[in-house]
Amino acid sequence: MMQWSKRTQSSWIQLAGHQGTYEGGEVLKRFCEVEAVCLQVLMSDALCQFVPHYFGHISQDGERYIRLEDLLSGLKNPVIMDCKMGVRTYQEEEISKARSNATVRADMYQKMVKVDPAAPTAEEHAQRRVTKLRYLQWRDDSSSTSSLGFRIEAYMTIIHKICLLNNIIGIYQNKNNCSSSQLQYPPLSLCVSQEAYESRLQALNKALKESNFFNRHEIIGSSLLFVHDCSGKANIWMIDFGKTIPIPEDVQLRHDVPWVEGNREDGYLIGLTSLITLMGEAIKQ
Ligand code: ATP
Ligand code: MG
Ligand code: MG
Repeated sequence: MMQWSKRTQSSWIQLAGHQGTYEGGEVLKRFCEVEAVCLQVLMSDALCQFVPHYFGHISQDGERYIRLEDLLSGLKNPVIMDCKMGVRTYQEEEISKARSNATVRADMYQKMVKVDPAAPTAEEHAQRRVTKLRYLQWRDDSSSTSSLGFRIEAYMTIIHKICLLNNIIGIYQNKNNCSSSQLQYPPLSLCVSQEAYESRLQALNKALKESNFFNRHEIIGSSLLFVHDCSGKANIWMIDFGKTIPIPEDVQLRHDVPWVEGNREDGYLIGLTSLITLMGEAIKQ
């Protein structure tokens, strides 16, 4: 987790992610081959209206960067929310790697107890370590990822500054307790643009069904970035394709069924449906 960026007009905007820098109407993100390939394909896909424009990549001071359209351009004091999509946030490959290398990690134990001191087992407490696999699965199961197919990774408003939702992950714990009001999405409760958001989500839902890219990719760890400002401008964008990979020819993904190890399903549409439902409920309230 991370830090992205500095905008041109001086205010710091930091949500989830690794280091990058903003420059003009573009943002630079540390280069990742997997992501660059996805962005290139997306530029001529049915989803292109939902993805920041990709300007290719550049090298600066020995580092390579992906050049992306700045999605905050033209927004005044934007409210931003990063929703990580899907019923899991790790690739199947990460599970096999974690299994074959079952080293226990003190840093992951620390992250776990910081959010929920009661989460580790007695044995894990005694070791003060957990395996990576255990940590990854706990993170998805203890947030709304596994149950609702998305989680709010971070949000930022002028009032809240930067809030990494890990701290209040507990409120997303129980699927049966989730409703739009109980979830209390802080940015949404301040949002004057819920109708605009809802229609953008509906349009995305339609575009996903027409998209070759969506049909042929397993989308893991990708986010929907919600942005709006007080003038009523509001938009939702698909970002972060570093773990989005093409599926083999003989695999067909549905994106709306539960994941079991081996079926490669990402649950992206489960998350989108949850968001549309919650947004609809929020509008009625
Ligand atoms: P992660 O830890 O989630 O894998 P990452 O390093 O892959 O992070 P992203 O998730 O792509 O980075 O981006 C991090 C944050 O940067 C987002 O939450 C968002 O606030 C901001 N951001 C990303 N892309 C853009 C963009 N094109 N324009 C403006 N802001 C952006
Ligand atoms: Mg991200
Ligand atoms: Mg990423």
